[in-house]
Amino acid sequence: MMVDHWIGGERVTSAVRFDDISPIDGTVLAHVSRACPYEVDLAVEAAERAFDKHWRRTTREQRAEYLHKIADGVEKRIDELAATETSDNGALLRSHVRGVMPRVVHNFRFFADWLVGEVSHPDFDTRGHTNRVSWDPAGVCALITPWNAPLMLASWKIAPALAAGNTVVLKPAEWSPLTASILADITAEAGLPDGVFNVVNGYGVETGQHLVNHPKLRRISFTGSVPTGRAIAQAAAANLVPASLELGGKSPLIVFADADLNLAVQLAVEQYDNSGQVCLAGVRLLVEESVAAEFLAGFLTRADALKQGDPRDPATDIGPLIHRRQLERVDTFVQRAKAEGARVLLGGGPNTDLGGLYYRPTLLTDVRPGSEILSEEVFGPVLTVQTFRREEEAVTMANDTRFGLAATLVTGDRDRAKRVADQLVAGTVWVNCFFVRDLRAPFGGSRESGIGREGGNWSFDFYCDVKNTVSSEQGWRHG
Ligand code: NAD
Repeated sequence: MMVDHWIGGERVTSAVRFDDISPIDGTVLAHVSRACPYEVDLAVEAAERAFDKHWRRTTREQRAEYLHKIADGVEKRIDELAATETSDNGALLRSHVRGVMPRVVHNFRFFADWLVGEVSHPDFDTRGHTNRVSWDPAGVCALITPWNAPLMLASWKIAPALAAGNTVVLKPAEWSPLTASILADITAEAGLPDGVFNVVNGYGVETGQHLVNHPKLRRISFTGSVPTGRAIAQAAAANLVPASLELGGKSPLIVFADADLNLAVQLAVEQYDNSGQVCLAGVRLLVEESVAAEFLAGFLTRADALKQGDPRDPATDIGPLIHRRQLERVDTFVQRAKAEGARVLLGGGPNTDLGGLYYRPTLLTDVRPGSEILSEEVFGPVLTVQTFRREEEAVTMANDTRFGLAATLVTGDRDRAKRVADQLVAGTVWVNCFFVRDLRAPFGGSRESGIGREGGNWSFDFYCDVKNTVSSEQGWRHG
């Protein structure tokens, strides 16, 4: 299959292509056009033309209608999108069908409805002058997304960006570009005017870097790793473009002795979902010493029963990693931790029975405080477990990281939950639950986990030029 860019309502081909390979079995899924600066410029110019000519002048209601039509198109193609995403990034088919793709539909509907219903501020008076706050479209937005949840993360950005009246150039990750291309077809079927939504494919350091350097951008929204986030922040700084950065994490999952241990075990085992390739994963298990043995016994029983295999099989719990480079990176972290004295309680290497890119769910203990395995993002099915004796110690250990994306607490004590949550440095804290995400809520990271928040009004504050118009009571001739 050939996959080309989507620019100005047309498929555009590059002279050079790259292979898109399935992590399930190494099949070449597509030969994908690899954008050089020329095609990136074409896309930004198409987006700029569409913005000036038409899209910026559409009403909120008109844009909401388009977004609902896109949502309808995604809804009709859920099975196709789910199967494509699974073959492209190796995440479980059942999760794509039941959770992820319906969520993509919701993302479009939510931002359409939120814009029409919620984005407003009452006028207010300053000594006889009226202040009127408005949210103006900003212009062309570059959206850059990772491979671990491609369409889901892209739609979190595309929906509010388009709803706000902006036009978009999306650069999906080179390891999982397929569903973005199907989305382009869906936007065309929804009648979205040419140039409002564009997709350019290619490598990050080439296509992505040229895109974020482009002087005609008005916003950059990025989800991905910290090093890339730094490069993008520098590009944004050069052109003084606001950038939203959703970056990595090394989140704690804290289990107090007063917790429902069954629940704690269940939540801890969930951290292996998507083979641990989840930015929010609570990969540092911090367990109160008095219940550590019982917790570990339950954890190992449950984790040992996880079925690893083909992500298209409904019985599979854990699929492959995305790429050979990722498998090697994950294993290097584990082997270095072992060489430093860490003890393997579970897994500890690739699943040689399955071959390919399957890595065994791994749990390490006796990890040295300050060691790499506790501080660097592994982005694989690798958890560490440490114990603590006092609440303050748990808080100190949880915050002992340069990240601040999320934290999970398991406790039976409401006062403690509030007290501890208030002290944690994290964009999201989950108490006795994990991964509950309401689009009305702010989402993002503190410290090196990112800059900015997405969700509800936070999204529109980012994607819009917020304006205040101050009018005097004097001087009116009409109206
Ligand atoms: P990555 O940073 O390598 O790549 C992300 C995207 O950036 C890709 O599309 C890539 O092509 C592009 N890119 C790379 N270099 C670029 C450059 N110089 N200029 C412009 N674009 C460039 O990340 P990844 O490996 O695809 O994804 C995994 C990372 O994403 C992890 O660190 C994970 O924690 C993070 N992530 C964060 C969130 C969040 O919401 N905070 C969600 C998912 C993933």
